[in-house]
Amino acid sequence: MEKSLESLMKMSKKRNYRALRIKRAIRNGILYGLALVGFISIIFYIFSGIKKVKEKNEQIFIVTTRPEMTVDLLTPNEFSRPQLALEKVNAIVVHYTANPGTTAAQNRSYFEGLKDTGLTHASSHFIIGLDGEIIQCIPTSEQCYASNDRNADSVSIECCIPDDTGKFNDSTYQSCVYLCAWLCGRFNLDPSVDIIRHYDITGKDCPKYFVEHPAAWTKFVEDVKTYIKNNGQYVNKNYYSSGTSGTDSTGN
Ligand SMILES: [Zn+2]
Repeated sequence: MEKSLESLMKMSKKRNYRALRIKRAIRNGILYGLALVGFISIIFYIFSGIKKVKEKNEQIFIVTTRPEMTVDLLTPNEFSRPQLALEKVNAIVVHYTANPGTTAAQNRSYFEGLKDTGLTHASSHFIIGLDGEIIQCIPTSEQCYASNDRNADSVSIECCIPDDTGKFNDSTYQSCVYLCAWLCGRFNLDPSVDIIRHYDITGKDCPKYFVEHPAAWTKFVEDVKTYIKNNGQYVNKNYYSSGTSGTDSTGN
């Protein structure tokens, strides 16, 4: 009888001990778990901090000087300045006026006149004249009517031409190189793929000379890249998005 009581007590002690061990194991498990979560959180916090600093300091190499231009915006109207938002610029589209000998001012007047004539829907953000002069007709925050399916995500440049060949003269060519180079920086575009011809969208013979002479087009894009290389500078990648630096209050 005494013996069995003793063995009962022993068993109960054993049971208590086991329960204690389990309890301890659970408590340790929770503690280790919490420590692990804490450790992971600290590592994550450190890395996200490093990433943020890195992002903040990330540099891009762009041309920041806006080419000289006349900002002479069209009167808002449904035929040439519909005031539809251009939310994201993904491309620069180069065109030619198909109207030899006309000036940038004359082409702007044609776009402006559409509000009265209602002849067609047409316009361009920029027009480059025969003396290399640049007229901006539409803010870059608004769509123009120049590039069909790409009106909603591109800016357009119309270039004046001296004759039927459609070849730009040197002044027009140089201004177009400069304007494209600046726009690439302004909208964070890659000149190799984001400068396109109207032809690349619709197959239209525009800009005529560059459609008929693909090598000349390749050279044009190379000239833009060279211009950026020679005239660019390193700036923070938020150079434009973080403020108004380099932007124009009317033309954006
Ligand atoms: Zn065109």
